[in-house]
Amino acid sequence: LNPQSLLEIRIIPYAEQMLFIARDVTKLKQLENMRQDFVANVSHELRTPLTVMLGYLEMMEEPEHTPPAMIKKAIDEMSQQTVRMRDLVEQLLVLSKIESGGEEVFKQTVNVASMLSVVQSETSSLNAVKGHQISFDIDNDLIVYGSETELRSAMSNLIFNAIHYTPDGGTIAVSWKRTKEGALFSVSDNGEGISQKHLARITERFYRVDKARSRKTGGSGLGLSIVKHVLARHYSGLKVSSQVGKGSTFSFTLPNNMIPEKDQKAS
Ligand code: ADP
Repeated sequence: LNPQSLLEIRIIPYAEQMLFIARDVTKLKQLENMRQDFVANVSHELRTPLTVMLGYLEMMEEPEHTPPAMIKKAIDEMSQQTVRMRDLVEQLLVLSKIESGGEEVFKQTVNVASMLSVVQSETSSLNAVKGHQISFDIDNDLIVYGSETELRSAMSNLIFNAIHYTPDGGTIAVSWKRTKEGALFSVSDNGEGISQKHLARITERFYRVDKARSRKTGGSGLGLSIVKHVLARHYSGLKVSSQVGKGSTFSFTLPNNMIPEKDQKAS
């Protein structure tokens, strides 16, 4: 026990004596607090878009007093908010699936190049709008053990973030390579960067550096916490180096035991 421990104390009469039972409930209390925070965060994230949508719906109840341009704006805004809510719910489902065990990691082998090509097509329309130069340096023969859906979700979150948090016309470099330590994935951008004070917290659920701005870009604040969970299940961890105004590099290495033996010898 340490002096900050939270104790639950019970005194029970027993054979003409008193039994004194103390139980350390610090961990339980922490878990309960986390659960409450989580529910509060999810509720807040859903309430905000719903409030916006209700406002627009009320305005459209009297279409004869609403200029067509306003109606068009309301429909655009409502569809954006609906997409936000759908993305949030999807991220929550991914998180809960991973937390309740997820897929068996050593049962599937994944070719990283083909996994990445799916992410490339998912990101291409957003990137067309932002006009970034994205380069890919991929080892086409690289095969790893892992859950394809989870690894794809991790890569996609990191690449989407690089696109979102880099001003239009930026430069992004994605690579997947064999190194002595294993399979190294990295994505670098020359975007806004993250200050030291936020860096330690960005993988927390719902944590965002700039709430107002990321709300506009549509983020839920869950992306990096999903990445962290996926990597932990693949015996890896997320590394971030970043400089405000210069850009960021997010990377991880799947260790050698995540690469099937024949592929290790071949490299
Ligand atoms: P979000 O859904 O808000 O993008 P994430 O968990 O993916 O949530 O990221 C958490 C926060 O980390 C983001 O809100 C953003 O402030 C910051 N961040 C993530 N990736 C980058 C990046 N490549 N450049 C700058 N900031 C980033």
